[in-house]
Amino acid sequence: MEFHGALVASPGMGHAVPILELGKRLLSHHGFDRVTVFLVTDDVSRSKSLIGKTLMKEEDPKFVIRFIQLDVSGQDLTGSLLTKLAEMMRRAIPHIRSAVIELEPKPSVFVVDLLGTEALAVAKELEITKKHVLVTTSAWFLALTVYMASLDKETLYKHLSSNGVLLIPGCSPVKFDRVQDPSNYVRELAESQRIGLEVLTADGVFVNTCHSLEPVTISSFLDPENLGRVMRGVPVHPVGPLVRSAEPDLKHEVLDWLDLQPKQSVVYVSFGSGGALTAEQTMELAYGLEMTGFRFVWVVRPPAEDDPSASMFDKTTNQTEPLDYLPYGFLDRTKDIGLVVRTWAPQEEILAHESTGGFVSHCGWNSVLESIVNGVPMIAWPLYSEQKMNAWLVSEELKIAARVDAGNGVVKKEEIVEVVKRVMDEEEGKKMRKNVKELKMKTAEEAVKQISTPQADYFTQY
Ligand code: UDP
Repeated sequence: MEFHGALVASPGMGHAVPILELGKRLLSHHGFDRVTVFLVTDDVSRSKSLIGKTLMKEEDPKFVIRFIQLDVSGQDLTGSLLTKLAEMMRRAIPHIRSAVIELEPKPSVFVVDLLGTEALAVAKELEITKKHVLVTTSAWFLALTVYMASLDKETLYKHLSSNGVLLIPGCSPVKFDRVQDPSNYVRELAESQRIGLEVLTADGVFVNTCHSLEPVTISSFLDPENLGRVMRGVPVHPVGPLVRSAEPDLKHEVLDWLDLQPKQSVVYVSFGSGGALTAEQTMELAYGLEMTGFRFVWVVRPPAEDDPSASMFDKTTNQTEPLDYLPYGFLDRTKDIGLVVRTWAPQEEILAHESTGGFVSHCGWNSVLESIVNGVPMIAWPLYSEQKMNAWLVSEELKIAARVDAGNGVVKKEEIVEVVKRVMDEEEGKKMRKNVKELKMKTAEEAVKQISTPQADYFTQY
């Protein structure tokens, strides 16, 4: 009988990328005969074009990608990105159910990311042998989610109302400043707690991380007295970094431009697939980049005033819109040192390019991993979701990034100049570069171990 895995990713490239990479890994190293990946999206053509651009070169009959189209728009959904995506996944459940029922042969393994844990009940109802969760962010965020679910609501709200710190057993505490919008606390926490409880109904949890990135948290998950207890026996497997490899032959104007620049001289600036800055912040960033005098590649998006994740649901951006939100004359003045790219750039290839010397990043977890596997130090500029936790991890713990302090206001051009210089120019930056190169080696060694040791054979028992 064919060994078939069904994988489901919630909307957003940050979920699609690691689920697709896991799918490839199951085929290449875990004895699967077939993998079907379902990508939930509100815009199939945009998802197809992003995935086509960055992820797939050729069709493979054993690796099937299907889209689950939802008829919603950003306006139709309310709250934070977490609550919006959780609501989308809730609406996707009947579609996931009917799509999985139709699969031939029936899958024996089901994997869904953290935002789609409601689908685990579908897998159970359909009697799929094993159900797993893939955490597409850090083990620390998994720790926060399952630990919050283990607390009663009152204790949790007390922490929040005092803007306190949550002490998670056996790993670093989390400060609640990551939750920006007080009007959404209750809904966000309710969704987080639900997800934390649903995770415990899985047969195992894969996390896109590895020991050298989060040694303390991973050890705590393996310790039955610490986070192991909170997991109630559900095993946690670090399987990362699951990142797409750079395509060596990819043709793109950015890569042509990078070919002409000196080694490690270029700052790459990108806020992921959903990040958007306000008009004022966009201006400050432009002036800041110009003032640094460093070469740069900047993936720009039209400004958004109220929602830093606005680009996630933006269907209107295209390659021809005017860049009139940039300072007057900016493109002209910087044409010899900078390249501005609208909306999307081949990030893996840019980070792998030897001219790239630093990465101004919103610290989405995939961007963090991609920066590490390419040995590029970061300027951490978190915007929403768990990005502040990721920024803390890379700056305070791993010491591979300098952090921008946005507070709740605007990051001024002078601060941008200072923080870019710290990474690109100063002694501190040299240390960060050394640290990230060491981490690159360690994660590469771990990635090899993950596919070659008996412990990595999660599926032989089925
Ligand atoms: N990405 C890309 N080009 C872009 C922006 C993003 O290839 O212009 C890719 C990036 O390499 C990463 C993913 O999209 O694999 C974004 O995931 P991440 O977790 O960093 O951020 P999110 O978009 O989920 O906020």
